[in-house]
Amino acid sequence: MDLLSRRARTIAPYTAGEQPSDRRYVKLNTNENPYPPSPRAMAAYLDYDLDSLKLYPPLEMRALREAIAAAEGVSPENVFCGNGSDEVLALCFPAFFDEDGAGAAFADVTYSFYPVFCGFFGIPHTVVPLEEDFTQDLSKLTAAKAQGLLVANPNAPTGIGIPLAQIEPFVAANAGRVVILDEAYMPFFGQSAVPLTKMYENLLVVKTFSKGYSLAGIRCGYAVGSRGLIEGLERCRDSFNSYPVDRVCQAVCAAAVSDAAYYAETTARVVAERARLARALEELGFAVLPSCANFLFARHAERGGKEIYAGLRERGVLVRHFDKPRISAYNRITVGTAAENDALLSALRGLLGR
Ligand code: PMP
Repeated sequence: MDLLSRRARTIAPYTAGEQPSDRRYVKLNTNENPYPPSPRAMAAYLDYDLDSLKLYPPLEMRALREAIAAAEGVSPENVFCGNGSDEVLALCFPAFFDEDGAGAAFADVTYSFYPVFCGFFGIPHTVVPLEEDFTQDLSKLTAAKAQGLLVANPNAPTGIGIPLAQIEPFVAANAGRVVILDEAYMPFFGQSAVPLTKMYENLLVVKTFSKGYSLAGIRCGYAVGSRGLIEGLERCRDSFNSYPVDRVCQAVCAAAVSDAAYYAETTARVVAERARLARALEELGFAVLPSCANFLFARHAERGGKEIYAGLRERGVLVRHFDKPRISAYNRITVGTAAENDALLSALRGLLGR
């Protein structure tokens, strides 16, 4: 259509996982947490003073930033909140990269929103291939010519985690440029680099309420970093949307971070189910990558990735298949409740004729 800009006409948008309404599925395709949000978070929602919705949300998000800062052991000045970590990640591109600069560098197999953001903001990017076993040799990323580097840890869709002991020398080796760590799945790994943000002013750690905190539906994410990096994000946000996090969301997320005990319990359950599900998949002939996240990335010895995805869908189980180079034989399977995982295994047994 001629009324659209060149960008709107030519952009290749991100394809989010299906959220179907045609029937009820066992939904293991978008890495949501199978357990409900903390009772404190739900109470904050139900008790919210609805009359105050006539007012804009608190600009500074002070209470939310203080709650996050307390949970993370940092200062509120070093916390930035946005409408989902996708928005926080999006704002990183205009904040830290120039259109005519050396661009961003990240892995070939990683969160597929990164190249979309680059396209949208007109920022060049370099792709650094993962090793054969899908691990990431960080020295290759350090060798990349780029204005800044992005790493998802644990990575998506592989689930592979990089130990904190490897992250620190990587951040130190890149002192002259920004290093963005996307820790969306860190609750299931437990090796967050947030403490390093106090020592390295080039490090930004991005986190979300969607996975560990069971709040994907409310849309909130945050970044922790040096004041200089946070200010860059604030300047970009305030040039786009001054109120990305609504009042109810601020209250619910502040309540959620204050309930560490509840989330330690639900996270432990996901991690235990992850181990059980991985073993059961291996017994059915799958090769399963070692996962540090709330999902498994698995390839069957005899059946193709797309075939397994389609067969499961027919049987009412949704998983995520990426028709992309290197990973088309795999499916990404979210770890559900024990009952959901059993439903997946039983559908697979039917599909594989076992
Ligand atoms: N990073 C990674 C690696 C993800 O998989 C996701 C979820 N699709 C996000 C960030 C964004 O999550 P949200 O916007 O829900 O915070």
